[in-house]
Amino acid sequence: MKIQKLTIIIPAFNESEILVNSVHRLLAIEDQVAEQHADMLGMRADIVIVDDGSTDQTWSLVEKLHKENPRVRGLQFSRNFGHQAALLAGLQEAVKTADFLVTIDADLQDDPEKILDMVSMAMDGDEIVYGVRNNRESDTWFKRTTAQGYYWTLHVLGVELVPNHADFRLMSKRAVNTLLSYPERNFFIRGIIPKLGFKTGEVDYKRTPRLAGESKYPLKKMLSFAWEGITSLTIAPVRLILCLGVLACFLSIGMVIYAIVMKILGLTDHGWSSLMVSLWFVSGIQMISLGVIGEYIGKVINEVKGRPRYTIQTIIE
Ligand code: UDP
Ligand code: MG
Repeated sequence: MKIQKLTIIIPAFNESEILVNSVHRLLAIEDQVAEQHADMLGMRADIVIVDDGSTDQTWSLVEKLHKENPRVRGLQFSRNFGHQAALLAGLQEAVKTADFLVTIDADLQDDPEKILDMVSMAMDGDEIVYGVRNNRESDTWFKRTTAQGYYWTLHVLGVELVPNHADFRLMSKRAVNTLLSYPERNFFIRGIIPKLGFKTGEVDYKRTPRLAGESKYPLKKMLSFAWEGITSLTIAPVRLILCLGVLACFLSIGMVIYAIVMKILGLTDHGWSSLMVSLWFVSGIQMISLGVIGEYIGKVINEVKGRPRYTIQTIIE
C-alpha cells in the first residue's frame, strides 16, 4: 500500500519570536501522527513555511530550522503579498508531494493537537476537515463583534461560509488541486472552499491567545480583507444598488404626484427644504452606487491583468 504524506503549511510574516517554538511543536505532532498510523499505512510528514516578505529574522530562522531538520522546508516571497497568497503558495508547493495538507497560523492560536483528529478523519474519507473555534474568548470584544457582524452580512448577501472557521484546515491532495484550479486573482480562500464540494468534516477547538508577538492583522488590513471577501464572493452589492434605484424611481413618482397636487393648490413656494433633502439624498445614493460599481470594475481590471499572485525569491526544498 502507498505510503501517505502529510505536509503542514505555515504562513509567517515577522514571526521570529515564535516560529522556532511553533515548528518544534508541529514536528512533534507530526511524529505523533506518524506513530498513530504506522501500522496502517505508514506516514511521512514535513513542514513548509512561507515567509511572506518578513523584515525580521524569520527567514534566517527557516534556514536554521532546515539545517537542523530537513523535514522543514521554506518559501520566501520577494515582498509581503498577504496571508492568502502565502497560503496559496504553500499549498501549490506542498501538493506536489503531499497527500494531506494542513494549513495553520504560525502563532498556533489554533490547537495543533487537533491535527491528529483531522488526519484520522481524512483517513476515514473526509477530503476537507475544518477547524472550528467553539469559543472566541481569546479575541477582543471588538474583534468578536465585528467578526459576527461580518459573517452575518455575508450570510445576508448569500455567501455561505463555515461559521467560526478561519484558515486552520486539512485538505486532501484532490481538494487542493481543485482549489488551485480556480483562476481568480482576488482569492478569499475560506469562501471558495465550501464551493468545492467533497466530503467534509469539522473538528472543534478553543482558540488561545498568541504566545508572543502581535497580530499581523491591524484594523486596516482586516477591513481590506473583509471587503475583499465580500467583493470576490458575491455581486450582491451591485444588485442592492439596482434595488435602491428602483425604490428611488417609485419614490420619485410619488414626488411628482405630490408636486402636481401642490401646484394645483398653489402651494409651490415651500419647496426649498424638500428639494435640498432629496437632492442630497439622491446624489449620495448615486455616488455610493458609482463607488461600488467602480470597485467591481477595478476587480475586473485586476482579473484581466492576470498578474501573478506572488513572487517567490528563494525556495528551500
Ligand atoms: N500573515 C502573513 N502575511 C500577512 C499577515 C499575516 O503571512 O501579511 C500570517 C501570520 O504570520 C500568521 C497568520 O498569517 O501566521 C495569521 O496572522 P495573525 O495571527 O497575526 O492574525 P490574527 O490571529 O490576529 O487574526
Ligand atoms: Mg493569530
